[in-house]
Amino acid sequence: MKISVPRGTCDVLPANSYKRAYIENAAREISSLFGYKEIRTPVFEHTELFCRGIGSGSDIVRKEMYTFEDKKGRSLTLRPEGTATVMRAIVENNLCQTGYAKLFYIGPFFRYERPQEGRYRQFHQFGLEAAGVDSPLLDAEIIHAACSFFGKLGLENLTVQLNSLGCPECRPAYREALVSFFESKKDDLCGDCKERLAINPLRVLDCKNAACRAIAADAPVMLDYLCPECSNHFDIVKKALEVYGINYAVNRKIVRGLDYYTRTVFEVVSDQLGAQDAICGGGRYNNLAEEIGGKSIPAVGFAAGIERTAALMEKRGCSFGKEPAPEVFVVPFEESCVMKAAEVLGRLRNSGISSDLTYSKKNIKKIFRDIAEAGADYAYIIGPDEMAAGKISVKSMKDKAQAEINDSEAVEFILKGRC
Ligand code: AMP
Repeated sequence: MKISVPRGTCDVLPANSYKRAYIENAAREISSLFGYKEIRTPVFEHTELFCRGIGSGSDIVRKEMYTFEDKKGRSLTLRPEGTATVMRAIVENNLCQTGYAKLFYIGPFFRYERPQEGRYRQFHQFGLEAAGVDSPLLDAEIIHAACSFFGKLGLENLTVQLNSLGCPECRPAYREALVSFFESKKDDLCGDCKERLAINPLRVLDCKNAACRAIAADAPVMLDYLCPECSNHFDIVKKALEVYGINYAVNRKIVRGLDYYTRTVFEVVSDQLGAQDAICGGGRYNNLAEEIGGKSIPAVGFAAGIERTAALMEKRGCSFGKEPAPEVFVVPFEESCVMKAAEVLGRLRNSGISSDLTYSKKNIKKIFRDIAEAGADYAYIIGPDEMAAGKISVKSMKDKAQAEINDSEAVEFILKGRC
């Protein structure tokens, strides 16, 4: 039997990998523009990190983790998200000891979800985390950075949806009001929400089931329960977003799937992405460091999905830059010319000119067609006549013009053409 990729994963082939690299380059540029430095953490962690960090009541921990025992019986989990991992690294390496840390990451994440368009079991995220400062200006900075990232990729006019989830001071009263509201309508909720009501009632608010949505429409909202500090924090975030010129809409139903959020939460959504409409999500998580055994470190961050970003760019016809291609293909006309062709190829490459050799035995017309398809600018044809005369025949793939140059000018010809 043929072995194929595991369900929910895919090979990113060359026709697409340069698009991913384009998105990642934009992520790096935006990170540097906003003063964030890269962190690379392991792809697996102790399972406990996610149980304590994300919360044992979250869907991720309850149903979606790839957890396994290593040979010594330790429980490990492929990272389902970046924030708990980055915070573990911040605490472990004392990165906030003398101030604050602004970090970014790009990499694969793993969730055992039902695969569908925009939802995979291995996916990639670009994320920013700013730790050590409780300022609402940083919440706005994070949202500004997310919007700038999408803007850089040509994704304008996305909707930023904003909410506040309060803090441990004001959320319990809200939670109580929410539970008593849903309890009276419990029979009409979907099976999942009946469970959520007991362990994570806020999640009932973002259930996609039509009956649950209809019930949730009249549910109490956190914004009516915010304590004065949370309310003030939320006001400053909104003002700062206005200062940065970011359009946002307050969406009182945004709760996010992870338990660690406090105060600001946000999602960037697009109505062109179907059911999986969130392209980026984030918020403030002031209690996570303590949950995972560190001192209190306020922090805020976001994670953007790279697959959904690429899908939206395709849908909107955004540019992914130029697919990398050799500038020159050297074509030995027959076997006796191969070493000469290799020598020219070596000179081109040693001069920083991206180039390749044709190994094909097809007829010359087909070879030219393949070279044009590969995106090269020139073919250097080396046959016995050219070798005898110390020449190279050059064919431009753009205008099909053919010329002869001296063998010694192989490098110079390309460099001159670039000016
Ligand atoms: P989250 O960590 O759930 O807040 O997700 C942040 C972003 O990652 C989402 O807005 C999506 O763009 C992306 N994402 C989350 N889960 C998946 C998945 N299973 N497949 C593809 N992208 C995902």
